[in-house]
Amino acid sequence: LAKKSTNPKVKHFIDGVKKVILVASGKGGVGKSTVTALIAEQLNLEGHKVGIVDADIYGPSIPQIFGISDVPEIVYNKMTPLKSRGIEIISIGFLIRNNSAIVWRGPMASKTIYQLLSLTNWQELDYLIIDMPPGTGDIHLSILENYQLDGVIIVTTPQKMAAIDVVRSIDLYKKFNLPILGIIENMSYLVEASSGKKIEIFSGNSGENFAKEYNIPLICKIPIEPKLSDNCDNGIGLTDIIKLPIDFLYS
Ligand code: ADP
Repeated sequence: LAKKSTNPKVKHFIDGVKKVILVASGKGGVGKSTVTALIAEQLNLEGHKVGIVDADIYGPSIPQIFGISDVPEIVYNKMTPLKSRGIEIISIGFLIRNNSAIVWRGPMASKTIYQLLSLTNWQELDYLIIDMPPGTGDIHLSILENYQLDGVIIVTTPQKMAAIDVVRSIDLYKKFNLPILGIIENMSYLVEASSGKKIEIFSGNSGENFAKEYNIPLICKIPIEPKLSDNCDNGIGLTDIIKLPIDFLYS
């Protein structure tokens, strides 16, 4: 007998892609896009073919991080991803230029997600990383309901302020049975240049607390590093500054 599925809806595989990983957060501005870029670049450095879908409607910053100002070509109804630093990139920003006040309700969110994921010519990628919008909205539902996914990484900062939104995110991914691969705590501390001492700017220990409470691995803590921000602003690579431990993506 075939095993009864908990979700009877048939989910799409994305053509030309082996693994699909989401990078999510409860709130905006915690460094989700920066972490997406770090993971993608690190995977690429370790010899994997990687793509990014920037699905962050509230601030599609991936093109800027990768120094992209062009728009993709459309060939036979499909977008050709733009390539930067060896990574194939498509951004929701390419579709909503100068139109940031759009309210993304169900059908429109679904249509746009379909365009980004299925109407893009991905070239045999080992990993496709999706930079999600913060929170839990119709874009999230559209991706979770319609696509075959491999896992999600949740980015947070140490402060307690973000907690309730992180809990909502964790709940959503659990509801869809998507493996939560781990939590990354960003902006955890600052290293004093002269002494090498770690200074914890924000009180709170959210990353560790969530990891313990929900039994999710804490992948790493990322320091506040001004060079990271400078390179993001100027479209320069990030792996010389910080290397993330990404072995968990290989299992
Ligand atoms: P999100 O995608 O969660 O909205 P971003 O990745 O766009 O957040 O980061 C928000 C801002 O913070 C950006 O200007 C980025 O360069 C900066 N930033 C993110 N992480 C760090 C860090 N560890 N150190 C310094 N600046 C950072």
